[in-house]
Amino acid sequence: MKKIPLLILMSFALFGYADKGKSLKLIEPVDFSHVKITDNFWQPRLKSHATTTLSVCIDQIENQTGRIRNFENAAKGKGEHSGIFFDDSDVYKALEGIAYSLINNPDAALEAKADEWIDKFAAAQQPDGYINTFYTLTGLDKRWTNMDKHEMYCAGHLFEAAVAYYRATGKRKLLDVSEKMARHIMSVFGPGKRHWVPGHEEVELALVKLYNVTGKKEYLDFANWLLEERGHGHGSKGDEGQWNPKYYQDDAPVREMTDIAGHAVRAMYLYCGMADVAAYTQDSGYIAAMHRLWDDVVLRNMYVTGGIGSSRHNEGFTEDYDLPNYDAYCETCASVGMVYWNWRMNQFTGDSKYIDVLERSMYNGALAGISLAGDRFFYVNPLASHGTHHRQAWYGCACCPSQISRFLPSIGNYIYGVSENAIWVNLFIGNSAEIQVGNNKVKLRMETNYPWDGNATLHIDGADKPFEGEIRVRIPEWCKDYCFIYDRINEKHGIWEGTFYFKDEVELYTEKGYKSNVIDKGYFVINRKWNPTDKLTISFKMPVEVVAANPNVKEDEGKRAVQRGPIVYCAEQIDNKDFDKISLNPDTKFTANFNAGLLNGVETITAESESGQFTLIPYYSWDNREAGEMKVWLDYNEF
Ligand SMILES: [Zn+2]
Repeated sequence: MKKIPLLILMSFALFGYADKGKSLKLIEPVDFSHVKITDNFWQPRLKSHATTTLSVCIDQIENQTGRIRNFENAAKGKGEHSGIFFDDSDVYKALEGIAYSLINNPDAALEAKADEWIDKFAAAQQPDGYINTFYTLTGLDKRWTNMDKHEMYCAGHLFEAAVAYYRATGKRKLLDVSEKMARHIMSVFGPGKRHWVPGHEEVELALVKLYNVTGKKEYLDFANWLLEERGHGHGSKGDEGQWNPKYYQDDAPVREMTDIAGHAVRAMYLYCGMADVAAYTQDSGYIAAMHRLWDDVVLRNMYVTGGIGSSRHNEGFTEDYDLPNYDAYCETCASVGMVYWNWRMNQFTGDSKYIDVLERSMYNGALAGISLAGDRFFYVNPLASHGTHHRQAWYGCACCPSQISRFLPSIGNYIYGVSENAIWVNLFIGNSAEIQVGNNKVKLRMETNYPWDGNATLHIDGADKPFEGEIRVRIPEWCKDYCFIYDRINEKHGIWEGTFYFKDEVELYTEKGYKSNVIDKGYFVINRKWNPTDKLTISFKMPVEVVAANPNVKEDEGKRAVQRGPIVYCAEQIDNKDFDKISLNPDTKFTANFNAGLLNGVETITAESESGQFTLIPYYSWDNREAGEMKVWLDYNEF
């Protein structure tokens, strides 16, 4: 009988906080511009992003909607504003995606398009630095009167796009526009000036990016000031309605927060901003709050897909364990937000549990947000459907398409990290990379068929000088058995000098002359002098797993979900004509088979028992064929 690993999401332990006084950020990111993705899973997606997704975004922004025309009208100072008051942000996010794509695949025509947009943004900027087409076209006298009108949110996306484009091309124009807007904002708000609580967080993390690229500390200080504004009753919608502090994460000072509440995407961006500020200010109050909030999100309010925010009424959270399946909201932006935030938490702590959540959200909740062809998008990602929920070409509120468009081309960010004398391997995605470790540049190459199997080979292709230090490989939470092989050929003598590390023996291993903690916070640590041509073979056993939800989740009582490696599976009606009769029991046998002709190539799972046979596909790939019912949580008969 198959043993069911119950409550895999509940198995995390608490841990201590870093000491005040030393840097709180243990791991530095390895930027995706140093990581070239070469695998069969993500590389085709990056290609379809460049060829299809960006064209869809540009067409929608320029032709199908008035988003670019809003900037043209704002530059002329006349004409109507069309769309929603925060539509500028979609244009900035699409531009950020273009910038990242240019880093991966230089493209003169695309760069010319970006320059054309940037000229239009600059022309729409007011002499005092203010830029926002909604207020410019509907009455500048009303600007900065309603904290829920996303002026700083749009500014934040402007700053992020500017930093991305500056890094991609070295061109400063949008950075100058951004700095002028930032100076305008700081001339109105700040210590001794007006109070402000951004109704939709975002500008805080963007200001830290602006600080990173310009070195101007006033941006960091202002981001910190904005965070400290929360929870003191300053929030207001002016004369345009009632401010709900809980919805805006404004019901307590950020360092006192204990429970996630309100709008999910706003919460994610807030926590990212807190993490970014705390990385510099070493504010242990922020870090402690984020640990409490992480537990509340992951242990009580997260779906098995890594999606968060169950309710469509507030696009966010309700009660703990309230995780409906048909009505799940799980906005695509929120799953991407989980990637952003967990990445930062991992950098503080060096704990792999954050990458486990990052990976769950990335391969499931976020990836479902885009069609296999790269041209249609989900805003809402339910875990069950009666067959009427489909991806759309665009949305009136188009945050999710533009979010996916900036997220996909930058996924190379999440593969590696670097710390003093150590390279951290977080995700298993085929790539070649150049990683700066101290004053040494190390060339790595990973070959893998992940997520379809758990094998990967990490080649040490060279370094400025032999790399002597740690390689830390994350052991995924889903993996119960693994083996590492350190492969070395002594070229002088032509003999193999490698070492096997099996899971059951790994803790016992010590090697003369090298410190070896071996397993540290979920990472397998191997510390040695790495020669060119050395390689590390990683072998994670990847069986089909049946998982149960926390018993407090009433919706999933008597049900189980099926997962293999990082991929959560679902049943679609098109594969299962007896869709309503699908059920699991303790004797269900599973076989996984790669089907190259299905859904751009997926590993399908066939489940078989006395009560019949059915087929499961990866959740991210659902709704790419004929419409029909879908479910992740399946009935489970205990006998
Ligand atoms: Zn969204």
